[in-house]
Amino acid sequence: MRLALFGGTFDPIHLGHVEAALAAADAHSLDRVLVAPCGVPPHKRSACRAPYRHRLRMVELACKEDSRLIASGLDEPREGGAPNYSVDTVERALATLRFEEPLRFIVGADAFSEIGTWRDAERVASLVEFLVVGRPWPDANSPSPPTARAARSVECAHPASSSAVRHRAKIGGTLADLAPPDVCAYIWQHALYRPEPNTMGP
Ligand code: ATP
Repeated sequence: MRLALFGGTFDPIHLGHVEAALAAADAHSLDRVLVAPCGVPPHKRSACRAPYRHRLRMVELACKEDSRLIASGLDEPREGGAPNYSVDTVERALATLRFEEPLRFIVGADAFSEIGTWRDAERVASLVEFLVVGRPWPDANSPSPPTARAARSVECAHPASSSAVRHRAKIGGTLADLAPPDVCAYIWQHALYRPEPNTMGP
């Protein structure tokens, strides 16, 4: 079993995420990609708009697009609301899952270029092989060294972003070109990312 972890805020998951996961799966013959929304993202704490349960549910809906994609609660919120660090998630995966080594870790080129700011970045790099998916942002395609030895790049150029989905949902625009149909329906059904305060529940 060739396995990759794909972590992120997924607030919400979008077509760029799905394409990135599938491009990595195709390029590296992955059997499974665990798509694991981050409970409390260390880098985006204040910016996280939808509660974890909604983000996980949308990941579940998006994962119906391909049988290799598996929604995972591996990175669920910790007790006491502490931030979720990738190093803990990777160690949890290594301790609890069975797969053929190495554990792959899918990451966008923009996120990868900031990897020096991750907690225990060197340790994460020693535990996984990064699959760095290209992102169509001008300066996002130049991964910086500390972990470059364990990184392989994967071509993928879908322009969607979670920010774009949230913006469109806020102004009532179409989401069809940005997110899988079931995710679009879920966002409307639960009035996610609307301007009104407190519409998303706890
Ligand atoms: P936001 O717009 O709120 O910053 P985002 O679209 O970057 O969010 P995240 O959940 O933060 O979404 O991203 C999770 C991972 O997916 C990160 O590694 C990110 O670089 C990568 N990623 C996001 N969008 C794309 C895309 N269109 N193509 C390739 N990788 C992507």
